[in-house]
Amino acid sequence: MADKYRCGRCWKTFDEEKLKVLPGVRCPYCGYNIIYMIRRPTVKVIKAV
Ligand SMILES: [Zn+2]
Repeated sequence: MADKYRCGRCWKTFDEEKLKVLPGVRCPYCGYNIIYMIRRPTVKVIKAV
């Protein structure tokens, strides 16, 4: 399972390809526009220098 993105409302996970189906960044299931990005099991904080 390639769960890279998670919806902020229905909490379903989906791949980047499904994210590109719809224009803009929206949940392919419910259309919510707040998406969380899931990269690795370990959360890595990246600071912009
Ligand atoms: Zn959703």
